[in-house]
Amino acid sequence: MNLCDKNTVRRLMASYGISFRHEFGQNFLTDPNVIDEIADAACPTEDCTILEIGPGIGTLTRALCARYRRVIALEIDRNLIPVLEETLADFDNATVVNADVMKTDLAELLAPAFAEGPVAVCANLPYYITSPILMKLLESNLPFWGVTVMVQKEFADRLCAAPGGKEYGSITVSAAYRGHAEKICAVPADRFLPAPKVDSAVVRLRLYGKNKPVEPKSEATFFRVVRAAFGQRRKTLANALATGFPELGKATIAGLLETLGLPADIRGERLSVEQFIKLSDLI
Ligand code: SAM
Repeated sequence: MNLCDKNTVRRLMASYGISFRHEFGQNFLTDPNVIDEIADAACPTEDCTILEIGPGIGTLTRALCARYRRVIALEIDRNLIPVLEETLADFDNATVVNADVMKTDLAELLAPAFAEGPVAVCANLPYYITSPILMKLLESNLPFWGVTVMVQKEFADRLCAAPGGKEYGSITVSAAYRGHAEKICAVPADRFLPAPKVDSAVVRLRLYGKNKPVEPKSEATFFRVVRAAFGQRRKTLANALATGFPELGKATIAGLLETLGLPADIRGERLSVEQFIKLSDLI
């Protein structure tokens, strides 16, 4: 069965009496080249376990099963479980779990996999919940080799943004603190069934794990600084910090910026991760 053929996908869904569920962000990928690119990017070694979020009807899952030791796929929509049993029947290395990723204890689920070898995340993410899923993965501090995800193009631009541009924000800094983001490919909307309203892109975040190039004295303060800086984008960094850290006072904040050699009227979007870390260490 060719799951990249749109008519085949429609027939398959009809044969199970189910339709695409917008509320679960169901836009199934139908481009075999893109599927190969995402699957290839997920991990450099075959002995990897892949956590897939939202396998849908199993199109990407099949490509992952063909490449890697094991695939653990979390699917929220129980209507898709019998479909996946059919489309993954010729692989014995796929485990499908009917669960909401946001309510799943990933450390517990993946403990045996981490004991076996590298573990990476690979997914065509449901767009309604991209940011919470990514933050959950990043904040879990689990030692994933990397996170390779299809996201909306604008979100991909934010993940890969350099300081100074309008795409640069708290998600950019949080991701850049934990890993190196790289765009793998752009994916036009017509490669999905049904086609979403916006184009997409695949981004790979290669996580640093314990080998971060720079680390703050206090992660909590670092993230508080980042949240404060981008919470009030139109303000200067000094004013945004004065709101986010009322206990410091304006004179102290002005002194901190001066110590770091930053102009008094600089905005948060101009600071690199390293500069945010220096600032949070001073605070
Ligand atoms: N991987 C398939 C593909 O590439 O064609 C489907 C991707 S589709 C964009 C997103 C998938 O995530 C859907 O199958 C949807 O049901 C599932 N999903 C949505 N929310 C989820 C959640 N909270 N936990 C697990 N799966 C979810």
